[in-house]
Amino acid sequence: MEKVLIVDDSPVQAAQLKSILDDDYNITIVQTAEDGLKAVSADNFSLILLDVVMPGMDGFTLLKKLQDEVVTRHIPVILITSLADIEHEQHGLTLGAVDYIVKPFHPLIVKARVNTHIKLYQYRKQVEYQSMTDQLTGIANRRRHDRYSQIRWQEATRLQVPFSVCMFDIDKFKMYNDTFGHPAGDKVITSVAKTVSNYLRRSTDFFARYGGEEFVAFLVGDNSAQSFAYLKRVRQAVEDLHIPHNPDTAQWVTISIGGVTVLPHPESSYDAYLKIADTMLYDAKRFGRNQVVWADESMRQLREK
Ligand code: GH3
Ligand code: MG
Ligand code: MG
Repeated sequence: MEKVLIVDDSPVQAAQLKSILDDDYNITIVQTAEDGLKAVSADNFSLILLDVVMPGMDGFTLLKKLQDEVVTRHIPVILITSLADIEHEQHGLTLGAVDYIVKPFHPLIVKARVNTHIKLYQYRKQVEYQSMTDQLTGIANRRRHDRYSQIRWQEATRLQVPFSVCMFDIDKFKMYNDTFGHPAGDKVITSVAKTVSNYLRRSTDFFARYGGEEFVAFLVGDNSAQSFAYLKRVRQAVEDLHIPHNPDTAQWVTISIGGVTVLPHPESSYDAYLKIADTMLYDAKRFGRNQVVWADESMRQLREK
């Protein structure tokens, strides 16, 4: 059930709105804009019904604050108010409200408008999700990587926890396609994605298809020794799929992995470490493929073979 937040200083009004929507939505009521702010940071709402005139912070101010924050600006807000003049309505809509309902309202109209905006919100979320998902493998795509890597990097910097970035590339994959055909190659890409995904299951792990037969991942919290050891197991798991390669090239399909672990600090950037991971991947290829090469916290290189 989608969650709807009602922000209204009048308990009677809030209860009335709740009774209109209770059958279809999971309703939370708060009586001040300040509590409204707290509620949205603690929970995921699909819509906010916001009263305008309230003691303390008013609805317009709360709406502006929600619109200013990346994490809350996507939540649709319907203003419900007794301010019936055009100027206030125009002001509310300009601030970013999706709709404006004047009191006294008719329950069926409130219900219909809420339903419409929830549907639009769900549709937008679905489109957004699809635009950040790789069609072939169903895992995250590069766009989602670009978005989440920055958010997670900043978090890790703030919390001062180790952060590992790694790049994966399927070995001699051009030869695989040339031998078995492109559709067979696509199946291999999907199998590799699935296998690696099964190993990166923590809520803080992130794994994406970066393009072609390349993947990218980041892990939060483990030091270089732990990450290096773990990624060696991931590499082995792909080899253990025993997908036959062209016998003149290799027995099985394998991957090479390059990675780096750092304790992020504010002057360092994610992209710089992604580049280092790519350099480690290049070395893994150079040293003979089917192996992991890692840069530890003091930029010493750890080699598997
Ligand atoms: P290396 O071990 O150095 O990585 O050799 P490689 O042949 O894998 O490297 P290269 O980058 O030369 O070739 C990558 C190949 O991956 C080229 C292309 O045929 C194949 N490829 C890229 N994207 C896809 C895809 O979506 N599907 C399939 N089937 N093949 C792809
Ligand atoms: Mg490649
Ligand atoms: Mg390759």
